[in-house]
Amino acid sequence: MTRVAVVTGGTRGIGHAISIALKNKGCRVAATYAGNDTAARQFQAETGIPIYKFDVGDYAACQEGVTRIARDLGPIDILVNNAGITRDSMLHRMTKENWDAVIHTNLDSVFNMTRLVIEGMRSRGFGRVINISSINGRKGQTGQANYSAAKAALLGFTKAVAQESAARGITVNVIAPGYIATEMVMAVPKEILDTKILPLIPVGRLGTAEEVARCVSFLADDAAGFITGACLDANGGQYMA
Ligand code: NDP
Repeated sequence: MTRVAVVTGGTRGIGHAISIALKNKGCRVAATYAGNDTAARQFQAETGIPIYKFDVGDYAACQEGVTRIARDLGPIDILVNNAGITRDSMLHRMTKENWDAVIHTNLDSVFNMTRLVIEGMRSRGFGRVINISSINGRKGQTGQANYSAAKAALLGFTKAVAQESAARGITVNVIAPGYIATEMVMAVPKEILDTKILPLIPVGRLGTAEEVARCVSFLADDAAGFITGACLDANGGQYMA
């Protein structure tokens, strides 16, 4: 059966790899993005995956976006809540604007998108919701009170909605990646990577976006129906909860 999958922030970084993995699995995939048209168009040209531009932090925009995707591809079976941003600073210097931006994009978005697909999944008796958290939501991180709070909240959201949805054939899980070699992490100076970050990772290297995509692909499978409310850590052993 061909499943329809939506990957928020599916045009760049980890989301880019997730979109491709789900397409290779046989899904009809929609990739959403916020504003980087150049990257999105390049992604679409390379993969043939349709792109949808809307702010996942804005409920009305999500309503319109989800309606368009369902009209183009069909009812949504798999939702990967991947879009996220960082706005780092110590709490004593953090602006209200940067707190709000991170909560809006990383947490409100997960309510918005999941709320808009969950009723359809319930009525059809199948669904896969996969939320991309972070190692820093598991352990906290200096300079990231906003990001750590939003990413930790995804764990509670996941467990609550997993309980509500289990009897309807819907699984809800969370993946908590560690340091992944995306543009964001590769922008860190090499010396800092080598001396401050890599020594913390027992596996001795950064993860790849494809390794996170592999976790998504596993959890999205029809055969993964007994796994729900779980957190899959993909962090090279950096944090063992
Ligand atoms: P990138 O910055 O590479 O890509 C982010 C994607 O999200 C882009 O497609 C971007 O669109 C989209 N996006 C951002 N804000 C919005 C918004 N308001 N509405 C819609 N789309 C939006 O991120 P990464 O691939 O590095 O991260 C992906 C996820 O993984 C995030 O949730 C992040 O927190 C998490 N993560 C990342 C880690 C890492 O090491 N990279 C580690 C742990 C977790 P556009 O291109 O238009 O900007």
